[in-house]
Amino acid sequence: MKYALVTGGSRGIGKAVCVRLAQMGYTVIINYASNSSAAEGTKSIIEQNGGMAELLQFDVSDKCQVENALTQWEDSHPDDYISVLVNNAGIRRDNVMFMMSDEEWSSVINTSLDGSFYVTRHLLKHMMPRKRTGKIVNIASLSGLKGMPGQGNYSAAKAAMIGMTKALAQEVAARGVTVNAIAPGFIDTDMTKDLAVDELKKLVPMGRFGSPEEVAGVVAFLVSDDAGYITGEVISVNGGLYT
Ligand code: NAP
Repeated sequence: MKYALVTGGSRGIGKAVCVRLAQMGYTVIINYASNSSAAEGTKSIIEQNGGMAELLQFDVSDKCQVENALTQWEDSHPDDYISVLVNNAGIRRDNVMFMMSDEEWSSVINTSLDGSFYVTRHLLKHMMPRKRTGKIVNIASLSGLKGMPGQGNYSAAKAAMIGMTKALAQEVAARGVTVNAIAPGFIDTDMTKDLAVDELKKLVPMGRFGSPEEVAGVVAFLVSDDAGYITGEVISVNGGLYT
């Protein structure tokens, strides 16, 4: 069995990634923080389409939860390992910096950056010995490339994910593990539903927000054999908003 773990797979981009990876033949491990009904919904869609999926609840920002959940999964799957990891879990807590609370700063950094580190570190130990099979895709953001006012915390977290992607790609290239990032622009999910969509669309050369499936398609490419010689890259999926 080929296993793929998608953090934050219950909703939005992560959900579309889970569905797409299941179509590629992966048994998808759907991680989520708290929304079990949304996670069950993603699993049902996969199963209705003839795919296979499991749920694995843990908070990516909590090192103990990450270690416990992944160790338990490994104990119950002694002959298997996770060959694809998509670090997708993320949150927004926007504020201008002079008013930003410690909690707004650290919760965003802890979820995107620390969470990606905890999960990646654990799974790398199993990916590296199996040459040419490990694929890691980090879901960063346009904010991490450009910086967005009101998102100092989020921009810092996503820029750091890009740095981590480039460093790790060089560390593990000889072990056959690829590490890439995707930098979405505005994507139509719960995360963006409180934004002034009509105003923001005018900033996008394509005149619309992207769909979660348009991000999932790039994940599918990056984990496919067609992307076997691509590592340390950041691919923008932003309708021409910024390159
Ligand atoms: P979303 O619709 O808000 O979904 C967020 C997902 O992350 C949910 O599955 C949620 O689980 C999970 N999650 C949040 N905190 C978690 C934690 N501590 N541990 C485990 N899972 C956690 O977000 P989205 O728009 O799909 O965004 C997905 C990723 O793309 C994020 O990293 C985001 O920063 C990035 N991104 C999004 C956009 C955009 O325009 N939407 C643009 C650029 C980048 P629950 O369902 O349990 O809450």
